[in-house]
Amino acid sequence: MRVLHKMFRSTKSWDKLFNDATDFATSLDPEKLISISHSADSADGVVTVWYWGDPEHSPKCDYNLTGNKSGRCPECGTTV
Ligand SMILES: [Zn+2]
Repeated sequence: MRVLHKMFRSTKSWDKLFNDATDFATSLDPEKLISISHSADSADGVVTVWYWGDPEHSPKCDYNLTGNKSGRCPECGTTV
């Protein structure tokens, strides 16, 4: 297991960013969630979800993604 992160970045609205981040965080196993942080970079808002995971496995369904090149889990459709 490693500490992983998924970054959400947008110039649009903080509401949308936080919604996207909380949707992703909600899809995680609760015990895998570490924290959610946010910051701003120029005009961009950046929200980052930090979680424990295995980079070779889908964060949502734990499907083994070794060798996956599409960037999308074939089981649940989560982008990885
Ligand atoms: Zn999956």
